[in-house]
Amino acid sequence: MGGFGSTRWAQHVKKTPVESCLRLGINDMMRGGLDPYRSETAFVRWESMWTGREHASIAMESQGGMLWFRYTVRDGGYAQNLRCGISLVSTTCHFGGVRWWFRCPRCTRRVGNLYIAPYNGHLQCRTCHDLVYASAQTAHSDDRGHVIRRAFALMEKHAKLTRKLERCKRWSKRKRRLYGKYVEVFNEIRLIGSNE
Ligand SMILES: [Zn+2]
Repeated sequence: MGGFGSTRWAQHVKKTPVESCLRLGINDMMRGGLDPYRSETAFVRWESMWTGREHASIAMESQGGMLWFRYTVRDGGYAQNLRCGISLVSTTCHFGGVRWWFRCPRCTRRVGNLYIAPYNGHLQCRTCHDLVYASAQTAHSDDRGHVIRRAFALMEKHAKLTRKLERCKRWSKRKRRLYGKYVEVFNEIRLIGSNE
């Protein structure tokens, strides 16, 4: 019944856009002061770009070249606690220095980013989650007037969907449907923004 790991979502919008996932980037983490050789405990946090409020965070522990993540995925009435270990690998750069990578726990490829998708809470690479870029899914028009009218219509839709979503307390069928629409609208808005 559309529980954790369900493919219903994927069937609905065909493919999940990268933009609707939480992204964990090794380069961001290194810039943030991660030292793979040091044992430490930290939190990785995501904030909403609309409200600035934190909407997800995961606990992280680094230990002997491995990162351990602990987090909770909530879906409908129940929550699932996940713990996964990600290996780090380094390669040497042409001009000296090292570059760090995650090893995707599913396909074991070396990747710079791992994702948590709306309906698959496991940390995996883009290929394993079968993610696409929203820009690859939507065709856009060059007509300026059309673009502006479309942008206004989308902003209105976005505001309406946000209000409706806020009123849904649990992940019901209706909330899933609304959320699907919300992600589509959100990605279309981003797309228009990126064409400026
Ligand atoms: Zn993978």
